[in-house]
Amino acid sequence: MTGTVTTRGAHLEALRRIGHIPVLIVGGGINGMGTFRDLSLQGVDCILVEQGDFCSGASRAPSRMIHGGLKYLETGEFRLVRESAAERNRLLCNAAHYVSPLEMIIPIHSWFGGVVPALRKFLRMPAKITERGALVIKLGLWLYDLYGALNRVMPRHRMISRQDILREIPDLDPSLKIAASYYDAWITSPERLVVELALDGMAANPDNIALNHLRFSGVKGNQVELQDAQSGEFFSLTCDVLVNAAGAWIDRVNASTSASRRMIGGTKGSHLMLDLPALAETLHGRMIYFEADGGRICILSNFMGNVLLGSTDIPVDDPDGVICDDDEVDYLLGAFRRLFPQVPVDRSNIFFSYAGVRPLPANDMSDPGAVSRDHSMPELPPEGERQFPIFSLVGGKWTTFRAFSAEATDEILGRLGKRRLSSTVDVPIGGGAGLSQAAAPTEKLLSAIMSDHGLSRHRAYQLVTRYGVRAKFLAQVLADGETVLASLPEFSQEEIAFICETELVLHAEDFLFGRTSVFLERPLDHAALNELVDAIGSVRSWDDAHRVTELERLIERYRKTHRMVVSERQNRRPQFL
Ligand SMILES: Cc1cc2nc3c(=O)[nH]c(=O)nc-3n(C[C@H](O)[C@H](O)[C@H](O)COP(=O)(O)OP(=O)(O)OC[C@H]3O[C@@H](n4cnc5c(N)ncnc54)[C@H](O)[C@@H]3O)c2cc1C
Repeated sequence: MTGTVTTRGAHLEALRRIGHIPVLIVGGGINGMGTFRDLSLQGVDCILVEQGDFCSGASRAPSRMIHGGLKYLETGEFRLVRESAAERNRLLCNAAHYVSPLEMIIPIHSWFGGVVPALRKFLRMPAKITERGALVIKLGLWLYDLYGALNRVMPRHRMISRQDILREIPDLDPSLKIAASYYDAWITSPERLVVELALDGMAANPDNIALNHLRFSGVKGNQVELQDAQSGEFFSLTCDVLVNAAGAWIDRVNASTSASRRMIGGTKGSHLMLDLPALAETLHGRMIYFEADGGRICILSNFMGNVLLGSTDIPVDDPDGVICDDDEVDYLLGAFRRLFPQVPVDRSNIFFSYAGVRPLPANDMSDPGAVSRDHSMPELPPEGERQFPIFSLVGGKWTTFRAFSAEATDEILGRLGKRRLSSTVDVPIGGGAGLSQAAAPTEKLLSAIMSDHGLSRHRAYQLVTRYGVRAKFLAQVLADGETVLASLPEFSQEEIAFICETELVLHAEDFLFGRTSVFLERPLDHAALNELVDAIGSVRSWDDAHRVTELERLIERYRKTHRMVVSERQNRRPQFL
């Protein structure tokens, strides 16, 4: 991957000319984008359209775990656990710049709790586990180690005595009996990985287009209609296959083609970011995987020096505009207080919140946690004037996107009468090329960037953790000097320009929330947002009025979507609503 300039104007121009495309993908989340990259690698011409920015649905709202799915052992979904563990191990190799091993700690409050319901679940009889004891967890982790054996890159599980775990994490609820430790993985930049898949796909097949802020608005006769969110312009084309990867919006997209069949039963999940650096420090990079009220599994981890706490699981019908609501805040803070009774926490510790809707299959279950997290690809065959089939990508995990995309690609290749040219199993993603979990390749890259371009070790490290090997192209640009932003010193004007020019940034919020994770690292005040808009405005030649609109858009996004009020008053930290 290079720093090739990719312009929206050129893509829109191409769309005006293209009358027909073999495959049109609706939805630029992880599943749509994974399929876009795979099809591109097979030489298939395709276009992906995303109504907002890339990765703006569920794919931007995960707990950031890349995991084998320990809890799916309870529901007897062994195929899913095997696949998830294998895909986790692959992502550790193929996206080593963003995906790293993560030690998980399970605090355990009983020895034999959950044995009977676990047995009933295992035998596929109705049961709800509300407390998992040491025996059940030990057995589960033993099985989990077996499933993760393929391409194993991480240690096996171990049990930790009460004294030891309380010595390591002293604030944990002292009523625990024992704890368990096992390894999964976590992803620092899911947003960036989706963008990198888009860039990889377009590099593999330069005629292909993945474009954000372009909405699929429906089918008229046999014509697919797309609309540019910025100008309102419509584009019309035909396709051989339509892939509906619209996540929680799948039923809506199908309905706009007059094909109505209920496929989705979405559940909302929310997370809070808490500024508790002292607690984050005692976690030593580990995630706590714990039971909240009613046995629901929640997570708490150190994300870049602060605490990430999530998530909820609430059935919703409308995926638009979901937020972490008051009941969820109370639920999550309540779970936190039971886990860490000694650590004072309240709403003033919240500096960011986010929510997303899992595109789970339609179901009539009363317990959302029991709905399968496996994926499927139901087909709506051609009907009436519509001569092409629609495949909907339902369900799935972030972790398993490559396998899901490969299944979708194989099905589509079959429909197009084509053969697979290559597998994606060992293909690195974006800046992950040539890196691994071993320290040596990263060290080599750091040394090369420092010696070839004269950057400090700190800056070279910052770039490598943000962009992987792609940092080399950026370092070349930065070698002539950088203008660091005063209130957002994590970034320079030149770095922002490079990303805007090569990664299809249309709005300031695309940059902030879709190309960085700085919004999760610390509270950002008015001055930081203002300076960011100015920096992007200089690259994009925005006039004053445009800059004001972009700043208002950012502040409104903070308020409406993330419940944070950004005040113009100097040095005022954003407040949770
Ligand atoms: C709270 C929460 C926590 C999670 N945690 C994890 C985790 O830790 N690990 C893990 O593996 N998985 C996790 N998941 C699951 C995972 O995030 C999702 O399964 C996955 O992101 C779904 O991806 P998708 O591409 O199918 O859907 P989405 O990411 O929702 O993408 C669908 C896209 O389609 C677009 N779209 C909709 N309508 C249109 C239209 N008309 N035109 C153009 N575009 C359109 C939307 O804007 C959206 O960007 C979590 C999910 C949630 C909600």
